[in-house]
Amino acid sequence: MNTAIYKIDATNMDMDVIRHAGQILAQGGLVAFPTETVYGLGADAMDARASAKIYAAKGRPSDNPLIVHIARLESLTEIAADIPDAAIKLARAFWPGPLTMILNKSSRVPLGTTGGLNTVAVRMPSHPIARAIIEASQTYIAAPSANTSGRPSPTLAEHVIEDMTGRIDMIIDGGKVGIGLESTIVDLTGPIPMILRPGYITKEMLEQVLDCVTVDQAILAENSDKNFHPKAPGMKYKHYAPKGDLTIVEGAPEDVARCINALTDQAQDKGLQTAVIATDETKASYTCSRVFSIGTRVHEESIAQNLFEILRKMDTLSVDVIYSESFEGGGLGQAIMNRLLKAAGHHVIQANQSRSE
Ligand code: AMP
Ligand code: MG
Repeated sequence: MNTAIYKIDATNMDMDVIRHAGQILAQGGLVAFPTETVYGLGADAMDARASAKIYAAKGRPSDNPLIVHIARLESLTEIAADIPDAAIKLARAFWPGPLTMILNKSSRVPLGTTGGLNTVAVRMPSHPIARAIIEASQTYIAAPSANTSGRPSPTLAEHVIEDMTGRIDMIIDGGKVGIGLESTIVDLTGPIPMILRPGYITKEMLEQVLDCVTVDQAILAENSDKNFHPKAPGMKYKHYAPKGDLTIVEGAPEDVARCINALTDQAQDKGLQTAVIATDETKASYTCSRVFSIGTRVHEESIAQNLFEILRKMDTLSVDVIYSESFEGGGLGQAIMNRLLKAAGHHVIQANQSRSE
């Protein structure tokens, strides 16, 4: 398949390209486009055959449901049924934006889009290109992250080009995305709203709008734990892992630097290619020749924005062994650590003990 690639300026959109993307989607094709979270791989959510193409292009397991993207609040009633007040409150507070709600699905949404579930995930993105493409398609757009299943989500068009060229009809390059982590997912089908995937919209932000919010305890657990039964099917799969062996090192900054320097020295002695994921504050403390700053701890947003790009860079550089600093577990840090722990296969060591947990 020939994949057309177009660059679009979000502040001065070429509407011919947007219309063309809308037509491809309306005819059951696949278009990748930027959203404020990560790049999405779009198809007509109301057409099971179009959704099936997403699973094929990504190599995504068929029980992992897709998020349906809408551009107007009125569309919610066409996608979802029995919509609770909490959903309306959250939509008013956070849409358009990086929040996905799980609701009972309407009969119009095919089971091929929801992985066979009677619930549906819905989001209204804020990115102007995403919104324009949804409007132009005159339908609703199923759009998971536009990466090969298991790889880090794409935050640059180059990442989509790497994974999807020849597999989809069109890629819209809108530059680097703003947030860099996938949307927060909240399940509103139970008695108490529950976060199934942490993201930019934190528990604290949701609690400003709702009386009570719980968190699916499986989100920071390991696949092998007996308590690991995540409510979002996708959370059970291996994800984000670079090809090299990634280990997270926890502890006081000076202990972490000492421990990582010793470990990278040892690995280099064995002839292995090594790299360190550090921060602006700490990058000068490492002796390894490849030290990447992921951002500044003063603005956790910068760490979220660069995480997937740095994980992909490790593959480009064919690094064998990677050590990363750890990040705080509250607020946006919970979303960052959820992704980093998955990328590391939950391999964490303590700097002052230098042994595996
Ligand atoms: P992605 O689109 O790749 O960011 O992944 C979407 C995530 O939403 C996956 O973890 C899915 O399992 C989850 N998801 C989508 N629909 C539902 C649903 N109806 N119930 C629970 N989780 C869902
Ligand atoms: Mg994904």
